[in-house]
Amino acid sequence: MITAKQIIATVSAATPTDAELIERAFAFAEKAHEGHTRYSGEPYMNHVAAVGLKLAEMGMGPRTIAAGLLHDTVEDTPVTSEDIKREFGDEILFLVEGVTKLSSVRYYGSDRHNESLRKLFVATSQDIRVLIIKLADRLHNMLTLEYVKPEKQLRIARETLEIYVPVAHRLGMGRIRKELEDLAFPYVYPDEHKRVAALLEQKFGSSNEVLERERKVLQKRLADVKLLDFSTSFRVKGLYSLFHKLKRKEWDINTVYDLLAMRVIVSSMEDCYRTLGIVHELWRPLPGRVKDYIAFPKPNGYQSIHTTVTTHNGTIMEIQIRTRKMHHEAEFGVASHIAYKAPAVEGAKAPVSPFSTLLPLLFRPFSWRQSASAKIEEKRETPHQQKIPLWISEIGQIYQKDKAPTAQFIEDIRNDFFSNRIFVFTPTGDVVDLPVGATPIDFAYAIHSEVGNHTFGSKVNKKLVQLDSELKNGDIVEIETRKSAAPTKRWLDFAKTSLARRRIRNALGLDNGPTHENKNPEEKRRPPRRAGKN
Ligand code: MN
Repeated sequence: MITAKQIIATVSAATPTDAELIERAFAFAEKAHEGHTRYSGEPYMNHVAAVGLKLAEMGMGPRTIAAGLLHDTVEDTPVTSEDIKREFGDEILFLVEGVTKLSSVRYYGSDRHNESLRKLFVATSQDIRVLIIKLADRLHNMLTLEYVKPEKQLRIARETLEIYVPVAHRLGMGRIRKELEDLAFPYVYPDEHKRVAALLEQKFGSSNEVLERERKVLQKRLADVKLLDFSTSFRVKGLYSLFHKLKRKEWDINTVYDLLAMRVIVSSMEDCYRTLGIVHELWRPLPGRVKDYIAFPKPNGYQSIHTTVTTHNGTIMEIQIRTRKMHHEAEFGVASHIAYKAPAVEGAKAPVSPFSTLLPLLFRPFSWRQSASAKIEEKRETPHQQKIPLWISEIGQIYQKDKAPTAQFIEDIRNDFFSNRIFVFTPTGDVVDLPVGATPIDFAYAIHSEVGNHTFGSKVNKKLVQLDSELKNGDIVEIETRKSAAPTKRWLDFAKTSLARRRIRNALGLDNGPTHENKNPEEKRRPPRRAGKN
């Protein structure tokens, strides 16, 4: 049984005020849920305490943790919104109500899908912390799914894969995404799960011993060259992501090179590149497998250097090199940007109306590389409002404009976010994340609007293709540009992403969008250049 003390001990630099709030929320929840049990027969309090602890582990602040502890009170107990407001104030009430509203989001397959997603987004774009609490809630529900009635298990597990996993992925929350995927996998695809697990067992029955041995070799080499401030860990690929890869590779496990991965976490970006050199000197790299996601982060913000090597023992494994900060961001994503570091971040302001503090977070244009003018704005806002991914602010803007959900709104979300994604590559190995059905035109605009606007032709896997051909997972896409090339109306027939469609309409003068392309925050992304892969 998780205690309030345990949660408080997990919060970094908790002040007495923080501790008092968490204790008070804990006691309040305990009283409210008294006598309630879960399907497993354990006290209901175990569930909300687990959610509170998970939030603390993610680095969330005391008010988010308190809201996590209280998240089921309004829905499941006689406690009212007024009670929460009186005891805990507006901000915590806002979070609890946000989570309560989200519990009506259910995935029933394609029919009601869009409506559910819209609700999810409305709640999300009001405060991202609501979604983080909901993910922690879902994680604990998945951990205890075996006790739920069998007929409900499949729906909950599918909903996890169709809604929560993509959300966690887009928020860059790698750890919770992997946990949710692997918990849901056996329920949704029981046969495939058995098949993948058996394949992995057959290939790497004792992978931990193998990895441990290789780890010692690498640790020694790094210490020998006086790179002292580092840590290493390893992982075996998650079964669900292995399942997806195997489907693409005709179930040939020997062509999956990132089955085993070793992580090297160092203290600076310079040390990342230095470590890459040391690794390549120690073990033979596989050609064409170096990916520099530090110079070219993934769309969800992920940063790391990946390379695949063959060790002296013949083990093929991926090496992932990143700084501590990058590691923390890869594990917790958006949560790491709004994490509670010191009282100055979350606790500085007295509780005010949630909207006044939270709306700027949503509707503020976002860019990975802040411009000079954005830096001035920064001073007026708390640090945790900085790195909100573009898609969230875009959804927020769309929703703000369209008071009621229009068909276009639902279509945009469906196309951009929740339909399945494909990952294609630039010739230098950078990943571009696109919706299924995307064409080279979408790819070109995802790289940069200047590339899109001057697209002349395209090659997929080194073969010339039409601009309207559908891209597939893993394709390597090259765009040929010419100064004289320009968008035509026909491009609108096969551009799938709303970004590309907007840019094309803009270039054709079809709507009164921003006259200056540079007004769009996405333009601050670094223009393409050849990646520095040594
Ligand atoms: Mn719950």
